[in-house]
Amino acid sequence: MTTRARPLTFASGDHDRLVEHRRDDAWCQRQWSDPQTRVLVVCRDQIQVAASSSAEFWSTPGAAAAGERYLLGADVAGSVRFAVRVADDTVGDFRSLRELVPGASSSDASLLCHAVALAQWHATHSHCPRCGAPTEVAAAGAERRCPADGSSHFPRVDPAVIVLVTDSQNRALLGRQDAWAAGRFSTLAGFVEPGETAEQAVVREVAEEAGVLVSDVELLATQPWPFPSSLMVGASARVEGTPEAQPDGEELVEARWFSREELCEAVASGAVVVPGSLSISRWLIDRWYGGDLPDSGADWR
Ligand SMILES: [Zn+2]
Repeated sequence: MTTRARPLTFASGDHDRLVEHRRDDAWCQRQWSDPQTRVLVVCRDQIQVAASSSAEFWSTPGAAAAGERYLLGADVAGSVRFAVRVADDTVGDFRSLRELVPGASSSDASLLCHAVALAQWHATHSHCPRCGAPTEVAAAGAERRCPADGSSHFPRVDPAVIVLVTDSQNRALLGRQDAWAAGRFSTLAGFVEPGETAEQAVVREVAEEAGVLVSDVELLATQPWPFPSSLMVGASARVEGTPEAQPDGEELVEARWFSREELCEAVASGAVVVPGSLSISRWLIDRWYGGDLPDSGADWR
């Protein structure tokens, strides 16, 4: 099998998160005053772009609207980066990650992902889960704290497994959820449950959704996925023989085995649309396929 080394979107992670400075308010304030510092202005799950260019999403501290401020870190050149979360009704030109990331560098894609995932967590954790009091930003945005009972709350990340299953003929198992348009197929995925390993989650999810029993689960790569707070754990797994797939009718309405030739032909004809290059699902499919599938022109997952 040919393994492609295409890097995963959102996974470069080459900004220094400056963990050692998070609790130093004076240091953070000095960075905010530095003309080299740059800011992402986040509204809900979108980033503000400049009036002059929709490809320019870095603002300066002086130009950024007021809001909660979170330290992201420093880029590879040492420039400090913040995110500011503004109110949901803020007027401006805001764009989604799906619009911005294809034109961004891998370093900027990681920072955009960090900013949007963090801002969404803050937006939905305004109150203490223990006592209900309003919480406050702490550690430059890496934490929220409850002033009433002193409890600390940390950004949540939800691990999900996503798996490319092959049979004894090296066909790949892909499925379609009811909400997806006809012809859209992807690898199978599901959240890891409490007390479960990622490998166990793969076996359970595939059995539940497609009615086949897999073994030889191998974890291949992980990808932060800020829609809103997942960590996708990409895996491969195998089944013995060539069992019929049986979609559960709830999570999956179709589950089909594809040989490389069948998938190539189906994608080329437009009968099947696979996920776009942003996702680890496509990375898994390309890894199995051993090259580039024909371009289906849609980045839908
Ligand atoms: Zn509390």
